[in-house]
Amino acid sequence: MIPSAEAAARPLRAPLKGARPCRAAPSGHGKRTRRALLLGLLTIGAPLSAQDTLVIRAANVLDGRGGTQHNVDIVVVGSRIVRIAPRGPVPAGARLVDLGDRTVLPGLIDAHVHPVWYFNRKNRLHTSDDGDTPAQSALAAAANAYATLMAGFTTIQSVGSRSDADLRDWIGTQGLPGPRMLTSLDPLTDRSLSPDSLRALVRQRKAQGADLIKIFASASIREGGQQTMSDSQLVAMCGEAKALGLRTLVHAHSAAAVRAATLAGCTEVEHGIFVTQEVLSLMAAHATYFDPQCALVFRNYLDNRSRYLGIGNYTDSGFAAMERALPLAAADIRMALATPRLKVVYGTDAVAGADGHNAEDLICRVERAGEAPMHAIMAATSLNAEAMGLGTLIGAIAPGLEADIIAVDGDPIRDITALRRVSFVMKSGRIVRY
Ligand SMILES: [Zn+2]
Repeated sequence: MIPSAEAAARPLRAPLKGARPCRAAPSGHGKRTRRALLLGLLTIGAPLSAQDTLVIRAANVLDGRGGTQHNVDIVVVGSRIVRIAPRGPVPAGARLVDLGDRTVLPGLIDAHVHPVWYFNRKNRLHTSDDGDTPAQSALAAAANAYATLMAGFTTIQSVGSRSDADLRDWIGTQGLPGPRMLTSLDPLTDRSLSPDSLRALVRQRKAQGADLIKIFASASIREGGQQTMSDSQLVAMCGEAKALGLRTLVHAHSAAAVRAATLAGCTEVEHGIFVTQEVLSLMAAHATYFDPQCALVFRNYLDNRSRYLGIGNYTDSGFAAMERALPLAAADIRMALATPRLKVVYGTDAVAGADGHNAEDLICRVERAGEAPMHAIMAATSLNAEAMGLGTLIGAIAPGLEADIIAVDGDPIRDITALRRVSFVMKSGRIVRY
């Protein structure tokens, strides 16, 4: 499971002895520790030696913020980027990694994934009653996380499942290879609860260690996507989360549901298949992030129809609804991108079968929604980092940031499909694919 390149790579950090999985963070100190665990920064302040320095030599660098640099050395010390300079002598004792003519860019970020979904040993979508053991489910999730990391995604946001917490913590502290991970744990879906009960659930998620809150404000696309949670329920949940310092990601398809989530002050709207120009402009006015999907989630369902059909709302009519949504999706993104000041982030909604194909919606956004390649790449790097509140730590190749660095064969600005050809991955200063 662990790639030979990783096994051979010199560890750039001390072993994480005594590291504990992160849970609730009642105190300020606990909060800092949780953040450090999330970022794998347990050795901040540890003395650095020459062996900790690594120089990445790159002919073509996209910095994630819209900038391009040529023929530079990216100097990494420990887990951080410390300098980007014209090619020069390699410091004594430092390790040189020459990436030749590959294009170097920040580790990609997917704002909406489901790594614990997988196909079971009967080649069907895993369900809680299919006989798989918890260990089998955990291993499947680990394999999905690994596939995602190898595809150049060094940070993901899972929205969400309670078993995400262990996956996040084992990646963060126990050496399991996978992307840095944030999770909402179980989403809030129960429309029969009072606003007070929903506020209590938000507090419970925080106590359980959630990094954000996921809310269902509308039905699934397979059931028509109409608004389910009331305006006052959304105000209660998003208001409580904001008071606790947590972001809210809201599943919403109908224009009414998107409008309600926006007016409730929620942080980000997911999906939005039935958005109108009016609600897109409303989101822009409220600085609400929008996370639409272009094709991967629908194509993956349709390609794996037999593995899903007959489970829950994966019915014939549900699949017909997804087929109808596919052309709407690219049109929605085109309209969203043309909406002044609207921040269109990047999340694929990768479910079972889609892990490791997370770059496909970047290709779709460029090829089918007319987005400029640089703009799409910024959505999956610096803009996603900003939307997650991690803009000063990840999402760009810049001094002071985590050394999350990937390289692809070719130039994605000229040919966006180059993002399928990831050939180098570094996460927090550690080479995991080379
Ligand atoms: Zn989802």
